Amino acid sequence: MAQGQQELVFAPLGGVGEIGMNLSIYGLGDGRTRSWLAVDLGVSFATEEQLPGIDLIMPDISYLVQERKNIAGLVLTHAHEDHFGALLDLWPRLKIPVYATPFTAALLAAKRAGEQGAPDIPVTIIPLGGRFKAGPFDIELVSMAHSIPESNALIIRTPCGSVLHTGDWKIDPTPILGDVTDEKKLRALGDEGCLALMGDSTNAVRDGRSPSEADVGKTITDLIKNARGRVAVTTFASNVARLRTVANAARAAEREVVVVGRAMERIVQIARETGYLDGVQEFRPVDAYGYLPPSKVVALCTGSQGEARAALARIAEDQHPEVTLSRGDTVIFSARTIPGNEKAVGRIINGLIDQGITVITDRTHLVHVSGHPRRAELEDLISWVRPKILIPVHGEALHLSEHAALARRCGVKEVVQCRNGDLVRIAEGHAGIIDEVPSGRLYKDGLILVEADARTVADRRRLSFAGSVSVALAITDKGQLAADPELDMIGIPERDRDGGSMQEAVEDAILETFESLPRKRRGDPDAVAESIRRAVRAAVNERWGKKPMCHVQVLTVL
Ligand SMILES: [Zn+2]
Ligand SMILES: [Zn+2]
Repeated sequence: MAQGQQELVFAPLGGVGEIGMNLSIYGLGDGRTRSWLAVDLGVSFATEEQLPGIDLIMPDISYLVQERKNIAGLVLTHAHEDHFGALLDLWPRLKIPVYATPFTAALLAAKRAGEQGAPDIPVTIIPLGGRFKAGPFDIELVSMAHSIPESNALIIRTPCGSVLHTGDWKIDPTPILGDVTDEKKLRALGDEGCLALMGDSTNAVRDGRSPSEADVGKTITDLIKNARGRVAVTTFASNVARLRTVANAARAAEREVVVVGRAMERIVQIARETGYLDGVQEFRPVDAYGYLPPSKVVALCTGSQGEARAALARIAEDQHPEVTLSRGDTVIFSARTIPGNEKAVGRIINGLIDQGITVITDRTHLVHVSGHPRRAELEDLISWVRPKILIPVHGEALHLSEHAALARRCGVKEVVQCRNGDLVRIAEGHAGIIDEVPSGRLYKDGLILVEADARTVADRRRLSFAGSVSVALAITDKGQLAADPELDMIGIPERDRDGGSMQEAVEDAILETFESLPRKRRGDPDAVAESIRRAVRAAVNERWGKKPMCHVQVLTVL
């Protein structure tokens, strides 16, 4: 690169090679120093089996912390958790300016109000379709249809050229709520010249076009009209268009909507304040449920992912204080099950069916549509924008490679497949991976953020499979046992398969091992502990076929 020449680079720090925890950065500079623009800061959800005790996974932002002084700002494309869920936890390490549209900012404020000690993040509110500057970046929002209000693509204009960062989007000519995807602005970008497109790959494996929210509306209206007993609908609270769809369907069937679950109440309130429920009838509070006749009620519930503490799981287990369902009632799952949640959702569905409740899911009825573009929609976008370079993001390996293949078929000249931590040159010269930046994961463990390679979680997983044995030994200065060993076993079977006592077998192993140690070695507490630890694990393994964790404490007494 020539002296003083500007270079534009891109690096995903999350969300590429996985669905979740989106974080991308764009860098502009001469290669030695760069100004950065960050886009989104999301989380992924962990499953209990993979990571016991961990609820949330976040991108490791150590590189951004290091470059903090050079970051011009962070733009949030929309308020889904995989795009903004890590902000409250990670912003205090960065303290950079944050830009968002009104609905996203309102959801962030509500989230902050619900979390003790959450930081007060100053957010610059940008109107829909607005244009603003952050450092050397000139950013323009493009409204895109999606499954939450105010999803935005970003046109990022730089001296090296313009980039389209799509965020999450689809094409829906009848989205029920909010703006349609701004085709005119995207075509204008194509005319002006688009250097690179960073695009949502979630549904790149699916042919055709995704159905419209209006089609879902028709199905749900029919289902509610024909239902005899009570109806409960569960969906993502943030899908305000869906809340509207359910409200319209309820009104058509002359039923009242009762809002059940704190997250649902919160979003309904925000959607009222921001005008996204204008013209929709008032909803009833949860205590109205009890006195409305079964044929006059639709309960709008949280818990579409099988979350144990959410409304639907509690209703299904008859644990909800106000809301009950019984034989002849109907539950509509108006949401996709996020991979990893299938078992929890399946348990609830089966439990409801066993109680004689009719359950309707998107496997048999069009009661949900995805908010992401299928192939024909991806092709439309490419034909409108005509990018020189395309980089698939927001997807697992299969989604990314299908998106890349589609882009090549559409005639995009340079397609770069990268992964989290790759630094990709966009301009000048050929696009390609030129370096790596530090990337990784953080876990939210209770109230604490830990590095993904911290031993704590791995230890907990091992404990859950094979239990633990702890041993305490007191040795005199002459190398004799001062008392019988103390033994504590957690999660270990009491008897082996021949009926022998595991406790006795372990005690025998401890004593035999100790006796067999040469006198000199007995004087070294660390050496004693290590020998006993090995012997205990071997003794349990021989009888159980598993090696527990083992902790040995050796005390020297006088
Ligand atoms: Zn989204
Ligand atoms: Zn997303």
